[in-house]
Amino acid sequence: MTVRSIRNKAHWAAYATVVTLAVGVFVAAWSARQDRLWGDMQEAAHEAAREVGLSTRSARNSVFMLQGVANGLFQQQGLALSKEHQAALAERLDLPGTTVLLPITRAAHHTARASANNHSDSPAFSMAGVKPAPDSEAGLDKGREIEIALSLGPALIQAKTTQSAAAAVYYLSGQGFHLIYPPASDDLQLFTPDMLARDPYRDGLVERNPGRTPVWSASYDDPKGNGLISTLAIPIDDAEGRYRAIAAMDFQLDSLSQYVRRPALGIATAFILDDRDRVIAHPTMVGGASDKAPTLQQVAQRAGAGDWSALRTAPANNRQELAADWALVYDIESTPWRYAIVVDRAQLRWAALRTMPLEAGALAALLLLLGYAEKRRREALVSLRRKAAEDVLQAAPAPVAVLRQADLSIMMANAALLRLFGDDGTTDAASARRSAHEQLHDLIKSLSSQEQIEAGRVSEMCLHRDDSTPFWVLVRCVPLVHEDEPGWLCSLTEVTALKQAQDQLETLATTDPLTGALNRRAIAARGGVELKRVGRTAASFSVLLLDIDLFKRVNDEHGHPAGDRVLQAVSRACQGALRELDVFGRWGGEEFVALLPDTDHDGAVAAAERLRVAIEALSVEDDVGRPIRPTVSVGVAVVLPAGDSLEALLSRADTALYVAKAAGRNRVCVAPAGNAPAELVQAPAAQAAVIQAASAASMSADKDSGVSVGA
Ligand code: GH3
Ligand code: MG
Ligand code: MG
Repeated sequence: MTVRSIRNKAHWAAYATVVTLAVGVFVAAWSARQDRLWGDMQEAAHEAAREVGLSTRSARNSVFMLQGVANGLFQQQGLALSKEHQAALAERLDLPGTTVLLPITRAAHHTARASANNHSDSPAFSMAGVKPAPDSEAGLDKGREIEIALSLGPALIQAKTTQSAAAAVYYLSGQGFHLIYPPASDDLQLFTPDMLARDPYRDGLVERNPGRTPVWSASYDDPKGNGLISTLAIPIDDAEGRYRAIAAMDFQLDSLSQYVRRPALGIATAFILDDRDRVIAHPTMVGGASDKAPTLQQVAQRAGAGDWSALRTAPANNRQELAADWALVYDIESTPWRYAIVVDRAQLRWAALRTMPLEAGALAALLLLLGYAEKRRREALVSLRRKAAEDVLQAAPAPVAVLRQADLSIMMANAALLRLFGDDGTTDAASARRSAHEQLHDLIKSLSSQEQIEAGRVSEMCLHRDDSTPFWVLVRCVPLVHEDEPGWLCSLTEVTALKQAQDQLETLATTDPLTGALNRRAIAARGGVELKRVGRTAASFSVLLLDIDLFKRVNDEHGHPAGDRVLQAVSRACQGALRELDVFGRWGGEEFVALLPDTDHDGAVAAAERLRVAIEALSVEDDVGRPIRPTVSVGVAVVLPAGDSLEALLSRADTALYVAKAAGRNRVCVAPAGNAPAELVQAPAAQAAVIQAASAASMSADKDSGVSVGA
């Protein structure tokens, strides 16, 4: 695997395609699952609404039947009461199988009731007001209608028994009486005039119901304890078309609860809404409890849903989207009611998801797998990149190391760098590596403490190989990120050979090859520096100019090589007798110079004397073993308080040297300050004689007296 192969854009395309496909397939399956669930609920709701319609149509048919029977009875001539029949009306009211109440007074009612042929499965008759006089026209009319009502008894019983949802079936007459089945066990069944003021009766008025059709009343709590009911009433007209009464059925709305509580409805909430904004059947309205029908808004609130008011007018059989819900309404046959279901969309999604654990699991597994593969791919890429970078550094011919910026520890050092520190691959590589690491660490630490580790800056450092040989390097550091950490990439360039050549050149330029002492140029340079310091600090300063006595003769008698050895011996002796801070060198030929910082007249004389004595004590053998015993004459000059140049100082020292030569050699002479005479230091008694510098030039030199030559 290569970086190129795993960086390939095709990877991304493949990932994206697989993920998109998998998610797409899953979402499509999920969506289909939701549609199917919704479809199942829709089907169940449709079936339930149809069954409610069957039940209500059956109730409607029953009241139509009552209307038909009553209308038929009104049409029958035989029911017109004859004179003979009038007298027997009261008796005829006592029909077999019918509980007849004639409550002229309350007490009479109870008496009558107690004495009556009382069957609980017979309709009860109840009338308010005074029993009409049988011979009056009004009495005749009322009596005839009572007769008709009583004849309806079997039809009422039949209607009640065939309609399981019917709480009661009755004939309510505008003449102030009613016949009801089943009879109640108390006063509730008694006719009261306010019954004629209520909607079920008033809905029979021609102006309100020209079609003479059954009308469902608003729902209300049945006073007889049958729970929530709606009265289904139909008008009864007499043969002349005058509105007489209603035939009615009290329909128990609890009977509808079975249609809204079906398992097939799943997570849908089903309910029945009437035309007065009341929910008349709902899964939570159970048992005949007198739970008044809530409004649609109340039901929506209880469900925590939004506004459902659109359900009142929404077209039937069409899915409605109500905020977070899906809803569907069906019109219930032969009623103004609507059957509705509402499903929370989120619930539907979850319900659908729960039916597809395999698909969800497969998708999750696929996504996890892809995620894992991608993670591995990235890791591989990172490690390949890291390895590639390290390979480049490792293979680089230049010594390179990578240091962690935080603690300047070494993260990586290449083979060239380890070789630099002495790891030749054969000996103890670990030790070389350790030594390399330690020194590199110290080096970088010192660079960073000197704030020289800024990017690109080049520093020269001296390091040591494993065998402790020193070597010189140029170090250059640039920042880089290595293994996700900020670091320094330090490259080293070895410059030992260059450094050595440089040193050599410097030595050549400043030392005398024969004696190893400083040469004239170096002395002049050092002298200039020293005199500048003297000028600043007003310190004292002296120079000595030494000249080997009768050296020409040494060469002549012992040979040039022996002369050279004498020069070397004298140089060594002088350096041995001087302080560390004094500067000594060969001025040329057999002349030497010593610069004595912080040295006044007395110090200079003492130093000159010390040198002279040290040289006097030397003995150098020539090529044939004969001893040569050199002496020197020394001219001393002390810097003037007003300031001096090195040339002036040496010139005065030279004059004093000349005096010393003239005075017999192997002695010290101090140059005078200003016009004072030169001061000759007499060896070995060191007794000073004052000689005029001016006369010194005229004195003749005794070449034999100052130097003892030979054995
Ligand atoms: P005086 O006491 O007056 O100084 O006498 P002198 O012979 O030392 O003086 P002179 O200047 O006549 O001679 C200096 C000699 O030093 C001449 C020269 O051959 C010798 N000389 C100069 N440089 C070297 C050198 O590098 N090696 C050797 N062997 N001799 C040198
Ligand atoms: Mg000389
Ligand atoms: Mg000489």
